[in-house]
Amino acid sequence: MSEAVTAYVLLGSNLGNRAALLHEARSYLAAAAGDIVAESGIYETAAWGREDQPAFLNQALALRTTLAPAELLAACLAAEQRAGRLRRERWGSRTLDVDILLFGEEIIALPDLTVPHPRLAERRFVLVPLAEIAGTLRHPQLGDTMEALLARCSDPLPVRPWAGE
Ligand code: ADP
Ligand code: MG
Repeated sequence: MSEAVTAYVLLGSNLGNRAALLHEARSYLAAAAGDIVAESGIYETAAWGREDQPAFLNQALALRTTLAPAELLAACLAAEQRAGRLRRERWGSRTLDVDILLFGEEIIALPDLTVPHPRLAERRFVLVPLAEIAGTLRHPQLGDTMEALLARCSDPLPVRPWAGE
């Protein structure tokens, strides 16, 4: 078994009972991937790139995991499958999206896994929840903290704390 690392993942949902889907994803990941040692609040954001879609709920989690990166990705994809995610089109609506944002300080460039997540610094819906639970954590390639990346982020889409349906 490898040594435990802290990985950060982002949950997203814009189809179905979004809050329940996030809840199920947390339960699944806690059982399949490792202890959830921090979780952000839930935020709502208009769908990025396609304004004709329902809004997303997003939440960031810190997971203490002994899985290898590829194994964590498999757990994330399994969580999506359990949520009945069918459509794979880019920017499409989805019941559940689980992305790995950071895996300790590792830099990973595999055909099916890029970490840190390549769009982390460009998306307010990623940085707002991530900075809430890891504001002083530094991006292993850019060197900036999540708070600094958020302060500099030019993404215009508002990210609002979600108050429930
Ligand atoms: P996106 O999240 O970019 O909207 P998808 O959720 O459809 O797209 O993911 C497509 C593929 O992206 C996944 O099957 C996975 O192999 C790959 N991928 C690459 N890097 C990551 C990452 N950091 N986290 C999650 N998936 C990733
Ligand atoms: Mg994804």
